[in-house]
Formats: sequence, C-alpha cells, structure tokens
Amino acid sequence: MKDANCIFCKIANGDIPAKTLYEDDEFRVILDLGPAARGHALILPKEHYANLYELPDEKAAAVMKLAKKMAVQMTEKLNCDGFNLVQNNGETAGQTVFHFHMHLIPRYKDDNQKIGWNPGEPTQEELEEIRKQIVE
Ligand code: AMP
Ligand code: ZN
Repeated sequence: MKDANCIFCKIANGDIPAKTLYEDDEFRVILDLGPAARGHALILPKEHYANLYELPDEKAAAVMKLAKKMAVQMTEKLNCDGFNLVQNNGETAGQTVFHFHMHLIPRYKDDNQKIGWNPGEPTQEELEEIRKQIVE
C-alpha cells in the first residue's frame, strides 16, 4: 500500500528524485537531506508503514539485514570510525516523517555530533517494578 500524501512513499517509489545508494523490490536507500554526519542515509520500504508497530515481521527482519549490508559497505567506502542505527517512532521519540525509516549514520572521530540520552539512575526496586510492568 502507498499513501498518496506521503513524501517517503514518493521517494521510495521513484516519483520524487533522491540520491539512491541501493534499491530492490522492497526498499530504497537514500542520502538524508539533513545529515547528522557525512553519508547519513535512510532505508525506506517501498510500501507505506507509518512506524515500527505497523511493520510486518518479515519486513522488520529484511530491514535489519539490509542495514547490516549497508553499514559494512558504507564503513568500508567512507572510512568512518563508527556507525549508529537510529529508528524513531512517534513524535515524542523524534519521528518527523511518518513512513517507517531506519537511519544509517556513519560516525567520524571529529564529527561533533551527539546521538544519545541523559542516563537516569533507577534503584534496583524501580528496575524490578519496570521489569514486572513489561513482562507480566
Ligand atoms: P525522523 O526524524 O526519524 O522522522 O527522520 C526524518 C529524516 O528524514 C530527517 O533526518 C530528515 O533530514 C530526512 N528527510 C526529510 N525529508 C527528506 C527528503 N525529501 N529527502 C531526504 N531526506 C529527508
Ligand atoms: Zn509512505
């Protein structure tokens, strides 16, 4: 299914041009227009899924396989020093385009980027309460 109002549907299916690094029947990988670092790319499924929750299991597995392949190729070709995979779901989590995508972010020693969080300091009791909430 495609969404007529979705820019990533249009890019993934070739209706809007983008700098493509890879394409197959299921996915297109493009360079991000607002890169966190040199070579920042996005894996876009050609079908429209708003986020991870909507992504079928087989697609999720295929995305990870492709992410690994791209990370290996990009690391070799760009000679980066590290690599982040980032995937945002929901506005609160920083998602701005509501078509599932995986960020492929090459990292360089001097890139001055921060991709992270402020670590909390939960007690063992709090961790146990959270664990129970999730699994029970
Ligand atoms: P997110 O915040 O996880 O939803 O990421 C959206 C990403 O899409 C951002 O990194 C944007 O820079 C990128 N982006 C938005 N529009 C385009 C576009 N037309 N072509 C390439 N990247 C885009
Ligand atoms: Zn879409």
